[in-house]
Amino acid sequence: MSKKVILFIIDSFHPAVLEACLAQGTAPAMNYLVNHGYCHPDCISSFPTMTPVATSSIVTGMWPDQHLVPGFIWYNPKTKWFVNYGATLRAILKMGPEQVLRNLLKNLNGEHLNRKIPTVYEKLGESGLASGSVNFFIHRAKLEHKAKVPFLLRLASHFKLYQEELGGPEILTLGALIQPSFTKPFHRLPVGPFNRFGFNDIFSGKIAANIIRDGKQPDFLLVYLPDTDKYSHVHGPLHSQPAVARADRQIRGVLDAFGSWERALDENVIIVMGDHAQTTIGRSHEHIINLDKILGRFRRLALRNRSDEGTELALCPNERMAIIYVLKNRRQVLDETVGILAHDRRHTQIAWRDKRNLYKVVQGGTEKNLCFWRGGPHNDAYGNTWGFEGDLTVVDARVDRDDRLVFGDYPDAFRRLQSALDGRRGTRIVLSAAPGYEYKAEGAPIHRGGGSHGSLEREDSSVPLIIAGSQNNIQDPRIIDIFPFILDNFQIASI
Ligand SMILES: [Zn+2]
Repeated sequence: MSKKVILFIIDSFHPAVLEACLAQGTAPAMNYLVNHGYCHPDCISSFPTMTPVATSSIVTGMWPDQHLVPGFIWYNPKTKWFVNYGATLRAILKMGPEQVLRNLLKNLNGEHLNRKIPTVYEKLGESGLASGSVNFFIHRAKLEHKAKVPFLLRLASHFKLYQEELGGPEILTLGALIQPSFTKPFHRLPVGPFNRFGFNDIFSGKIAANIIRDGKQPDFLLVYLPDTDKYSHVHGPLHSQPAVARADRQIRGVLDAFGSWERALDENVIIVMGDHAQTTIGRSHEHIINLDKILGRFRRLALRNRSDEGTELALCPNERMAIIYVLKNRRQVLDETVGILAHDRRHTQIAWRDKRNLYKVVQGGTEKNLCFWRGGPHNDAYGNTWGFEGDLTVVDARVDRDDRLVFGDYPDAFRRLQSALDGRRGTRIVLSAAPGYEYKAEGAPIHRGGGSHGSLEREDSSVPLIIAGSQNNIQDPRIIDIFPFILDNFQIASI
């Protein structure tokens, strides 16, 4: 008999903050799990290090070139328009609340996430195992659930959204929209508009604990804890101990639901991880890289404009990363755009695919450049092989004595850059910002003096991973390794 699995995902989980909480004794549940399991401070996230991308990677075991969710804000060549999952109120108003809600609730799972690859819920379902997803936005599975859209969101969508059928596993909870029918009514839980309609840690934790107390725990339960992200954006990631301590309280509540923590670990494999971390943003104007201004000479797609007719660029800022889609006169506009960006040292990597489909990377403000391709004499730590020409310091890499590629400040840089440049049609340039900087363009949030994420850099990319209650561990973990780890626990092959 396999143990059941509970996976907690803390949004924007910084390894230094976990360490501080453990040292200060403010995260007793995680401390217990660390002492009874394995703890990695440096599990590698996706690129961009943005929640829809990273959470799709966790649930499918794939990078974005395969799961096809490339950012929080991206350009969809099929609809010739932006996809935005609700980055700012301004973006929501400009694109129309109905469209943004539809993207987040329906299209993300129904259309954007690659239908040809299974989610962990689908894969477990094929073997007759039941799953549950609590407040997590990637929940594709074969059962249908009725979501009742709260009144204010209905109003915002001009009553075009009311009752929606959403796919999900056996148990699906999405804040005030869907809750399991067997749990206690949640009228005492924070589900109002000021508590993000139930998309908060307390709601996630209480519902998960109720599921266990009611004897309805599925084989696999995913519990998403979103609050640390919000707190870190405002106060900065290195000041987010209070938020992580509050997340720990919810984990404690779930462990308590088993009667004792020993029993919780006897019966379960318990995993706690982040989706990505964050970096502190500087306070000056210079720290906000205004792409609309820098690339002002090009005709740019506007959020309000549903047609890309005549436009040359679609700017998709993803906090400390940006995707620039080139829509017209592709080679010429691409060369001109790279030429402008290359003078600016705030872009640590400017990457694109050239005519021969080789991956090119330049470092802004320097003459340094690099070209790499798949298949070649050099292995990386994960068994991928690469060839390259040029200056490896562009991605802080070196070749060791065994001809292996070793990455420093930009973990798994070749594979992660490549995954941001491939998948879906469209010519694009991807940018990764230097520490302390973030991108601004229409519809993007900015966090001057706070925290932000998205980049290829280690501080955005390394998250804690705690695995307790299992004999198995993951060496050099990446967030995509959780999918095969969970399947392996149930003796299911991942391919
Ligand atoms: Zn965030």
